[in-house]
Amino acid sequence: MQRLLNVKNLSVDYGAIKALKQVTLHVDENEIVTLIGGNGAGKSTLMRALSGIVPASGAVEFLGEDLMPVSAHKRVSAGIAHVPEGRQVFPDQTVLDNLLIGAYLRKTSRKKLEQEIDHFFDLFPRLGERQNQVAGTLSGGEQQMLAICRALMSKPRLLMLDEPSLGLAPQIVADVFKIIRSLREQGITILLVEQMANQALAISDRAYVLEVGSIVMQGTGEELLHSEKVREAYLGKQ
Ligand code: ATP
Repeated sequence: MQRLLNVKNLSVDYGAIKALKQVTLHVDENEIVTLIGGNGAGKSTLMRALSGIVPASGAVEFLGEDLMPVSAHKRVSAGIAHVPEGRQVFPDQTVLDNLLIGAYLRKTSRKKLEQEIDHFFDLFPRLGERQNQVAGTLSGGEQQMLAICRALMSKPRLLMLDEPSLGLAPQIVADVFKIIRSLREQGITILLVEQMANQALAISDRAYVLEVGSIVMQGTGEELLHSEKVREAYLGKQ
């Protein structure tokens, strides 16, 4: 299996706050890897550091290339897409325009992009039906689908999803997890941050537990799902 992402001793400080302390992890091609951890553990910070929107120290390699000197927008071109917490679609733009914006760094004809968008509309008919609706008026679940599809329009090798289930009804959460599995079947590698640890671990090849900026545990999804410590700390209420 090819190593896609290799992170060594990654640290991020926000002023006096050490949000990440010497984090070492990796993601192989076609894996689903989940980060679990309590509030403020540093999960979102790790994703922001990998997408290059917060300064970090340490080493990050993507497909063997040093990513540290690479700007945030060049990381998108290199194949890293990030769906941040809270979805953040462009609320005043239509569904269709949101998707086209997702492809803005690609040198592909509009016709080809529209074919790709039609493919998403086949997969997610609700987005197709609403393609001319402004994104801010979509339901929470529809916005999450749109945010994921917009990220996919950059043709990523690695898709980072930060709490995709946040604020969604249980039935829609189940759909989101189904989508994540089907993306992996299409060859996309996924790094996932989730509070729904039970469901996330159940679809993960491997996972890491982050506590106050440090990795304290790692294993297969199955191992962590059955770990006493993880069950007590993160799975109790689900
Ligand atoms: P949650 O599950 O609550 O979203 P998280 O694991 O994603 O948490 P982060 O958002 O990465 O955690 O935050 C890690 C730490 O860094 C927290 O203590 C947070 O208060 C702090 N932090 C995050 N962003 C900033 C910022 N822009 N300025 C200062 N401190 C920050």
